[in-house]
Amino acid sequence: MLDQAVVDPLIETQDLMVIYPNGTVGLTPISLEIYDHEITVLLGKSGAGKTTLLRALNLLVLPATGSVKVRNIGLLSASGNIRKHRRKTGMIFQQHQLIGRLTVLENVLMGRIGHYPVWRSVFPLGQKERRWALECLDRVGLQEKALSRCDALSGGQQQRVGIARAIAQKPSLVLADEPVASLDPAASIRVLSLLRSICKEDGIPAVISLHQLEFAREIADRIIGLGDGKILFDGTPEDLSGSAVDQIYGKIDQMKHTEALT
Ligand code: ADP
Repeated sequence: MLDQAVVDPLIETQDLMVIYPNGTVGLTPISLEIYDHEITVLLGKSGAGKTTLLRALNLLVLPATGSVKVRNIGLLSASGNIRKHRRKTGMIFQQHQLIGRLTVLENVLMGRIGHYPVWRSVFPLGQKERRWALECLDRVGLQEKALSRCDALSGGQQQRVGIARAIAQKPSLVLADEPVASLDPAASIRVLSLLRSICKEDGIPAVISLHQLEFAREIADRIIGLGDGKILFDGTPEDLSGSAVDQIYGKIDQMKHTEALT
């Protein structure tokens, strides 16, 4: 008999739809499953619905209809369930969302705060937590920067701190929203490859939104192509044909994109 924990999806959305208060449909009803060990890239042009879908996976945007179910937690409807899921979800943001005046180590420790009751988190976290944060920094190659102020680091280094903070949470899922949007191509691929290899080593599924096709092809196990809040493609990078790319980007946009890279 198959082990259920291996075949059950970690996340299951059912007809998940988002309508913003101004009436804009951010997401048409979407049903999908996210499995362990899988690096999923949400690919699409600006406005395609990548951020909306990513944030709907932990209810940072509220769905108008539909549901999100998380293995071992259940439906994300009760506030307790949402809190449990968020505590086990490492978020990585486009602009890092680090606190520049704090040290690198203090920023990584922020990833641990959600694991303690509020009364505990106002006190400095202990030696065990600091050792764990240093281990996470070591994995992103920044242990020697632990006591530097975060705003003294380069953009690529700051995003590596963002990865360390996310893994310090010991997450079951990583959600990364355009994590390399502010980096040059060389730093982008370094950061994405690092994120991929850490998630693979730890068996953590990651959902990463990107608008660059070449990065998606390089790091994804699975690509979900989005446009106008709809899924236009769902498959492996090898399956992503030229016509699927045309659908995601539109022919003219894709030509501009290629020209911009050459
Ligand atoms: P992407 O991440 O692919 O750029 P988004 O998910 O941000 O796309 O946006 C999807 C759609 O929802 C777009 O039409 C966008 O303008 C709209 N949208 C996003 N956020 C908001 C918001 N806070 N209020 C109104 N409309 C929004």
